[in-house]
Amino acid sequence: MQYKMLIDGHWVEARGGGSRAVIDPATESVITSVPFGDGRDAYAAIDAAARAQPAWAQMTAYERGALLLRAAYLIRERIETLAPIMTRECGKPLNEARGEWNAAADLFEWFAEEGKRAYGRVIPARRSHKRLLVLKEAVGVVATITAWNFPAYLPARKWSAALAAGCTVVGKPSEITPMSAMALVNLLVEAGIPAGVMNLVNGKAEDIGQAFLQSPLVNKISFTGSQRVGQILMRGAADGIKKLALELGGSAPVLIFDDVDVESAAEQAVAAKFRNNGQVCISPARFYAQRGIFEEFLEATRARIAALKLGSGLEAGVTTGPLVTAEGRERVESFVADAQTKGANVVIGGSRPQALGRGFFYQPTLLTNVNPTMRISCDEVFGPVMPVSPFETLADGLRQANATPFGLAGYAMTNNVKTAVRVYEGLKFGIVGVNDLVPATAEGPFGGIKESGFGSEGAAEGLLEYLNTKFVSMGM
Ligand code: ADP
Repeated sequence: MQYKMLIDGHWVEARGGGSRAVIDPATESVITSVPFGDGRDAYAAIDAAARAQPAWAQMTAYERGALLLRAAYLIRERIETLAPIMTRECGKPLNEARGEWNAAADLFEWFAEEGKRAYGRVIPARRSHKRLLVLKEAVGVVATITAWNFPAYLPARKWSAALAAGCTVVGKPSEITPMSAMALVNLLVEAGIPAGVMNLVNGKAEDIGQAFLQSPLVNKISFTGSQRVGQILMRGAADGIKKLALELGGSAPVLIFDDVDVESAAEQAVAAKFRNNGQVCISPARFYAQRGIFEEFLEATRARIAALKLGSGLEAGVTTGPLVTAEGRERVESFVADAQTKGANVVIGGSRPQALGRGFFYQPTLLTNVNPTMRISCDEVFGPVMPVSPFETLADGLRQANATPFGLAGYAMTNNVKTAVRVYEGLKFGIVGVNDLVPATAEGPFGGIKESGFGSEGAAEGLLEYLNTKFVSMGM
């Protein structure tokens, strides 16, 4: 495995000679060191991508698809090598890492097929001497910037669709977790990706981001990360009127209605909330249990949280790994402190675990007596903290659930079909899960509304993000 940058088909060090350590968050020790570059590397990669793009777009979708399918098979074949790489750099337990790599393979497989369906249209013209056509053409060079929480899935979701559409790519992974993205690029190279079609740069985020914004050769930037950086990109994109897709996180509510099986609801709630230690942009963040089952749900949840096993994700039986960085844990601590100051009760957890001296661990935590003035209610905690509040009626539940500027994902659990319809119609989010707290899948469109950003990833909508519409009007 090459843990380097890939530019124009070559594995390279940073032009400026820089490197940066990758830290294992479970032990706080260095795993390895990787090239850490800047704008110069980004410009070289952009040039390579621009040179490679016409030939890649001229290949048939069948030829591109065959290559992407090979990449999907390679991921599945190597999963036992790939999973520990991810666990070590981002802390998630091995089972979750395997699941993420499998989901990345699903994306390459799905878009290998979907690329064949970039259909245009023939429009009946209002004049007999005209012929009107709509063509779909690759956007061109796509730059991607991704976060550390899904270090393979996030790049895979962008690259699979962009490559299938005939775009070439310059990817920038999070500097915290570059190894999974580099491993993925290794497999694309092995699958036969031509030089320049897929490029990977790692380094100073601001410099590389500016290169992506300022180079006229970059036709689109697809970003997953914080609102802060999303705003920088949106402002910067104004100069070159650059296409953007922004996935900026959320504050997902879950409404648990009193007609559910409480034990089963608690089981699903805890599994979804503490998946990847709460560091998931669609992860349920605010739980609202209807008054009639509130106490019962709280107790069922507490019991399940108590059974979670904290530790290194490489150890068998561990359900919950460390936070990704020391700063990530401090953020969680500050959210809990803020909530406690404003009157929240810690039912379980609420501190670092005594038994684990090293690693960025924090106990899975359950909070009640939460109110809307607390940061936990309105900002993204990105950690293992589960606030549970009561709600009375459907209208009250929807009001509380929608009281956020974010609009990525919202959830409800109910066995009543009318309630289910009312909630999926009433929740103001780009993704709604009804009795499903894990809704992301290659064949479904993923994306937010409101301050969670714009653009779809996955599904037919995801392919369209990387295609321009060309209208051809022919006189006869
Ligand atoms: P998070 O808080 O999840 O780490 P960030 O938005 O800080 O979210 O990081 C997401 C991605 O954005 C990472 O790849 C990071 O390197 C990149 N990034 C950070 N700052 C900038 C910037 N100024 N311009 C472009 N990309 C950036």
